[in-house]
This record gives sequence, structure tokens and C-alpha cells, in this order.
Amino acid sequence: MQLSINKTSLEKISSPLLDEKKLTLYVKRDDLIHPTVSGNKWRKLKYNLQEAQKQKHDTLLTFGGAYSNHIYALAAAGKLFGFKTIGIIRGEKTLPLNPVLEFAQKSGMRLYYISRTAYRDKYNPELIGEFKERFGKFYLVPEGGTNMLAVQGCEEIVEEIDIDFDYICCASGTGGTISGIITGLNGKHKALGFSALKGGEFLKDDVGNLVKGYCGKDFDNWDIITDYHFGGYAKSKPELLEFMKQFEKAHKIPLEFIYTGKMLYGLFDLIKKDYFKEGQTIIAVHTGGVR
Ligand SMILES: *Cc1c(COP(=O)(O)O)cnc(C)c1O
Repeated sequence: MQLSINKTSLEKISSPLLDEKKLTLYVKRDDLIHPTVSGNKWRKLKYNLQEAQKQKHDTLLTFGGAYSNHIYALAAAGKLFGFKTIGIIRGEKTLPLNPVLEFAQKSGMRLYYISRTAYRDKYNPELIGEFKERFGKFYLVPEGGTNMLAVQGCEEIVEEIDIDFDYICCASGTGGTISGIITGLNGKHKALGFSALKGGEFLKDDVGNLVKGYCGKDFDNWDIITDYHFGGYAKSKPELLEFMKQFEKAHKIPLEFIYTGKMLYGLFDLIKKDYFKEGQTIIAVHTGGVR
């Protein structure tokens, strides 16, 4: 199983705003890790797939909403590395399948739908027991791929960076990626996670717990930015789409509106509002995504 990642590049962004504010911005191109297991999803799966193999599992089971990038990436990774995959999907089956589920199914993923109520309590042992009876033995990857092994994989984002910087940012859904970045920083510099969900305040607790669970420490050199969800998960607004269009045109870096578009919109807005100090260097991690 070839799970190692070639160090991803740092691409310097030039713009009049950055010149005016005397800031340096790089985008770390994790979106280029793989065409279908993109960005942070590969990093989060890396040690999980190793562990599944070590425990001699041939089947991966995971959870997600109907538009989950994680479902998409896990289906692709299963196909790539020879695991059978089962996706437990929140809500009712609707036909035709949307492009994410269509891709997952084509990649060999078995899709199984549970009610939103059941989904809320998806890790309860009784339900997991039912899945074991129905599907046989499996390695469970949590929703969003986020667990301690995912944090370990995301630490490597920081290890790869060989320049000096002040801030590192990424988009956040379950908070696994920003948690790995925080433990990787080990108290140095600052990390900002931009919530892609409305009510992202819950991420402050979740991330704190993941970080503490992983390395036993509390850090205070990080924050979750909750003002740029644009109405909620997978919601959008014309000004977001307009920003993305201009960014893509100016920098030739593709974005999607669920995660990376919102993160960069938010970052540029904070820059305009003088959140950062003259002379600082910011790294924005491009976590990939399905477009
Ligand atoms: C899944 C995903 C995220 C969210 O990552 P978390 O570790 O769940 O916070 C961010 N960006 C992209 C592009 C994603 O696909």
C-alpha cells in the first residue's frame, strides 16, 4: 500500500491587498495530493488505512451526509487500495443519486441509508452491532474521517513546511485537520480554522478535546473563525461565488464553495479588517475538495 505523500508545494500569492497590508501569503497545495482522494482526506486516511491493514481488515465502514467529501474520498481510497467500502448515509435515499454518491457507488461503495434520528446516535454499540451482523467484520472510520490517526496524518502538514510563518489556516468541518495542525505546531505560531458550518462554536470544544486526547496538552495558539459559513454547510451566497471566480482567475488555483472558497473569503476579509500585523506571513492550506 503506497500511502506516503510527496511534500506539497507552497504557492506564493500576489495581490494589491497583500502589498497594501504588507503581508505574505502562501497556499499549500494539498489539493494536488491526488485527483480523487484529495487534500486532507488522504492525510486523514493514511494512518487509518495502515491500521486497517495491520488489523487484517478487508472492509472499511464509514458515515456521511449525501454530499460528504469524506464518503467520496473513502470510496476512492478503498478502490485504490483494495478495501471493500460501506457508506452509511444520513437520510433517505433519493434517485437519481447525486454526483458524490454516484461516484461512491461506481467506485464500489455499498450505500446504506439510515434516518436522521438514527444518524445522530450512529456510534451506539447496538447500531454498530447491527452493522456487524449485516455486513460482517469491518474497520470503522468515523464521520469526516476524524480520529486520533487522522490527527497524526494532519500533523505532517506542518512538518512539511520549511519556511518561517506566523499563521496557518484551513477550512474546518469536523475539526480533525486543524487539530493535527495545532498538535504539529506544538505551541508555536498560530492556527486558524474557518468553520464551514453554521454554529461552528462547537468546534472549539471538539478541537480542544481532539488536541488534548492526542497529545495530552492544551494549547492557546489557535482559534476557530465562525463568521464565514454563508448560511451553513454547503450553502452559498453570490458574493462568495464572485470572490471565488476572481481568485481562480487571478491565481489559477481552483476552489470549491463548501470549504476552501469560504476559508479564503474569510481570510481575505480578515486581512482587509487588519486582523494581521504588517510583515506577517500566512499559510493557507488548500484542503482540496470535490468540485
Ligand atoms: C473534509 C474537508 C474539510 C474538513 O476537514 P475537517 O478535518 O473535517 O475539519 C476541509 N476542506 C475540504 C476541502 C474537505 O473536503
